[in-house]
Amino acid sequence: MAEDCIFCRIIKGEIPSNKVYEDDKMVAIHDVAPAAPVHVLLLPKEHTDNVTTAAPELLAYMLGKVKTIAEQTGIAEKGFRVVINTGEEGGQTVNHLHIHVIGGKALGWPPC
Ligand code: 5GP
Ligand code: ZN
Repeated sequence: MAEDCIFCRIIKGEIPSNKVYEDDKMVAIHDVAPAAPVHVLLLPKEHTDNVTTAAPELLAYMLGKVKTIAEQTGIAEKGFRVVINTGEEGGQTVNHLHIHVIGGKALGWPPC
């Protein structure tokens, strides 16, 4: 738990969120400012800054849950995007690892 981390506070229940999935290692919540009809964030319960600081086992576990969450939110069949913004130039604005799962419409590419 990092005291000033907004995602740690969400996980602790200090800030409300709309959860779509939870287990002992992670939660998945709807993004407060969705970029598409479905925009879910997967957050590890234990604070780690980003993909470079997370244990490979945790990353594998969380990526392994993407299919479940895509099915649950109705975007598995038509397709979706998985994004991990990392660091300043990568566009990371919250320094608590999170995996974006985005879908529900045809998405543009490239993102820059
Ligand atoms: P990043 O830009 O770091 O990859 O993504 C951070 C994401 O967190 C953004 O899409 C932003 O909308 C979302 N976000 C920021 N604060 C909150 C919050 O308090 N609740 C929820 N559900 N999402 C948030
Ligand atoms: Zn945190």
